[in-house]
Amino acid sequence: MSLPAHLSLILDLSPVPWTALSHSTPPLSLRAFLAQALVFLNAHLALRNENSVSVFGALPGRSVGLYPPPGRGHGHGRRQAGGEEEGSGGGDENTFHVFGQADEGLMSRVEEEVAGLEEVEEDTPPALVGALTKSLCYINRLSNPPPPLNPTNAAPAPPHARIVLFSVSQDASMAYIPFMNCIFSAQKLKVPIDVCKLDDSEVIFLHQASHLTGGAFVHIDQREALLQYLSMCFLSETETRKTLAVPTQDKVDFRAACFCHKEIVDIGYVCSVCLSIFCTPVAQCSTCHTKFSPDTLLRFGGSATNGHSNGTTA
Ligand SMILES: [Zn+2]
Ligand SMILES: [Zn+2]
Repeated sequence: MSLPAHLSLILDLSPVPWTALSHSTPPLSLRAFLAQALVFLNAHLALRNENSVSVFGALPGRSVGLYPPPGRGHGHGRRQAGGEEEGSGGGDENTFHVFGQADEGLMSRVEEEVAGLEEVEEDTPPALVGALTKSLCYINRLSNPPPPLNPTNAAPAPPHARIVLFSVSQDASMAYIPFMNCIFSAQKLKVPIDVCKLDDSEVIFLHQASHLTGGAFVHIDQREALLQYLSMCFLSETETRKTLAVPTQDKVDFRAACFCHKEIVDIGYVCSVCLSIFCTPVAQCSTCHTKFSPDTLLRFGGSATNGHSNGTTA
């Protein structure tokens, strides 16, 4: 029997690219995007009674959990097997209550968070790493449920989880190392990271994230057909994907960012002990403090003094 599925959405909520997108042709406003994302979420919930969702937002400089609402415990966002979730009173009687909760809860939370953004500097990159980390922690908690209170009951099976990341801005190379750590954690948890790219900016690290975790990468060319892309490319769960051709990138850019200046490098120097990457030869690794022999430095064209200052100021 297949397991239930958990879908975790990560929304890039940077206000500047969203304003640009809402004035591009064809336009895609944040509100129109959210409406389509909600249909996608509801489609996932409708596939199976035990399916669950979580949504995290990456705002400039900070990340927030948008759904399930804080303080509702990790069983929320997930319907209880064989019964209705409690506390679902109110709302439109013609709407399935789980859809209604997700719709209202998410819309109001996003509006609240975006409205509180006014003082933020425009060029602050979105905290994608923070949102990704929160999402992975949430998935890790779902994967390790506490033992049931009554030992005769079987523990509920942990769901198959996947992450869909909606990106509207370019990579922040400053965040290379924590971002790679997130990818490794996702690999360990066997969580594919799907990337849905809504604008045309360059995202090397997101290519790597989807490639290394076995997720899909889709650049939305026709924004007016967003919902169709979402349901065709991202709705299938991890088990079903084994028999489907999920869209990926033909070419993946595997360049890394140097640890000293956090810039993407074509050719770098790698510490033989801890595999840290540097753009110039250094006398001492800034991560593990291994000292390299002056002969080796000279062979690579670096000087011991120059290299040393590079290594320690990093
Ligand atoms: Zn560097
Ligand atoms: Zn090292």
